[in-house]
Amino acid sequence: MSESNDMAGATNLLTAEQQRRYLAHGGNHCPCCEGEEIEGTGQSNSDADWHENEVECKTCGAIWLDIYTISGVQGVSGPVEKAIGKAPHQKKNA
Ligand SMILES: [Zn+2]
Repeated sequence: MSESNDMAGATNLLTAEQQRRYLAHGGNHCPCCEGEEIEGTGQSNSDADWHENEVECKTCGAIWLDIYTISGVQGVSGPVEKAIGKAPHQKKNA
C-alpha cells in the first residue's frame, strides 16, 4: 500500500533458509552463492531505530539489504552526564 519505504517493502527474493544461514554467520557471505567477496553498494536508508544497507556479491551479482535495528545506547560525552537525573529546564535551587 505505502510507497514511502521502497527498499524494505520490496519482495524478498531470499528463501527463509538463505536468510537463516546468512544471519547465523553474521552476514559475512553472500546468501545466494555463499561467496565471501561482498561489498556495500553505498546505498542505505535509515530512521531513528533502524538502518538498512545495500550489499552486493562480487561473485554472483546478487544484491540484498542488511537490516539493522537499534540494540543499545551508550553515553559518550558531557551533555549526557548532565541530563541524567535532572530535568533540563528545571531550576529549583534559587
Ligand atoms: Zn553471491
